Amino acid sequence: MTKMYYNQDINEGLLQGKKIAIIGYGSQGHAHARNLKDSGFDVVVGVRAGKSFDQAKADGLEALSVKEASEKADIIMILLPDERQKQVYEAEIEPALTKGKSLVFAHGFNVHFGEIKPPADVDVFLVAPKGPGHLVRRTFEAGGGVPALFAVYQDVSGQAKDVALAYAKGIGSARGGVLETTFEEETVTDLFGEQAVLCGGLTSLVKAGFETLVEAGYQPELAYFETLHETKLIVDLMYEGGMAGMRYSISDTAEWGDFVSGPRVVDADTKARMKDILTDIQSGKFAKEWIEENENGRPKFNAIEKAEADHQIEQVGQKLRSMMPFINEGAKSKEEEVVA
Ligand code: NDP
Ligand code: MG
Ligand code: MG
Repeated sequence: MTKMYYNQDINEGLLQGKKIAIIGYGSQGHAHARNLKDSGFDVVVGVRAGKSFDQAKADGLEALSVKEASEKADIIMILLPDERQKQVYEAEIEPALTKGKSLVFAHGFNVHFGEIKPPADVDVFLVAPKGPGHLVRRTFEAGGGVPALFAVYQDVSGQAKDVALAYAKGIGSARGGVLETTFEEETVTDLFGEQAVLCGGLTSLVKAGFETLVEAGYQPELAYFETLHETKLIVDLMYEGGMAGMRYSISDTAEWGDFVSGPRVVDADTKARMKDILTDIQSGKFAKEWIEENENGRPKFNAIEKAEADHQIEQVGQKLRSMMPFINEGAKSKEEEVVA
């Protein structure tokens, strides 16, 4: 049975008197910095001049360059986009990473795939919330916490595990539950989850359903509500009560349709392709191609992003959401909070 850690299991005193640099003030960065500060810790934000820098100051945080923040801090948490971390690390963080400091990540990508090679005399660990950054902040403010994983890669001080847990508690994650993993397990499962299920799997499923209805002559607006809008309502029920909780709320007709048709959509072939995706992540093939795509200036990424934005489901959705101010208000406050 996996050991779960909660607030009462963790002594956050280990973080007292230590300066924590949050490098990057985007989705995760703003949430970690603000939650740690509200938990009473000494936080400094390290980010380049621009929108994030200004936002950190506006939020009442001390903001410095990446280099200055790294020099001042005992604990350096890298919350830059994964594909930029190597470059910024080598130029501005590594020189400041002196003996006894801690280097921290929210995703194991760069360490696991060998892009960043930390020096031997620092602690290295990760604390990875299992949720988008703006929810890490929003849930914390509401008194809850987004569960997180932690993993120790290098323990020089003998305290890396306890400091990682204290950090997880500081961002509110120990209110939801924290569990120990390895850099390999976190990296592989995070990439697999976002590709096969959460982001890739879900968007492809919704789009295929939308297209099927529209191609059969049904109204696009109706198809949008049926496939995209209602996904959130169903997912909320699953989040609250698992699949059984969701099935309790739907009609028996819907539940019977779920049982007989779900396995026709996602069948053994789909699962075989999921295994292929997992293999490509484990072997490093996915990471290599993503790093190359960035080195080439992201030609495929940009082309696909544009084509996706032009999809009919997005056009229809924009119009419909503009008539639902309660959703728009949520999105606006989210944008303000998330910045990047
Ligand atoms: P974002 O893209 O949201 O944030 C990027 C931040 O880095 C911005 O503040 C940006 O500032 C800054 N930045 C970018 N380039 C540079 C640079 N060259 N020098 C200085 N600052 C720079 O990142 P995420 O929060 O999405 O991801 C951060 C880490 O967290 C990643 O490792 C990711 O895998 C992990 N993670 C992310 C999750 C999420 O919810 N998004 C979930 C769990 C883990 P500027 O405004 O100047 O561009
Ligand atoms: Mg994730
Ligand atoms: Mg991820």
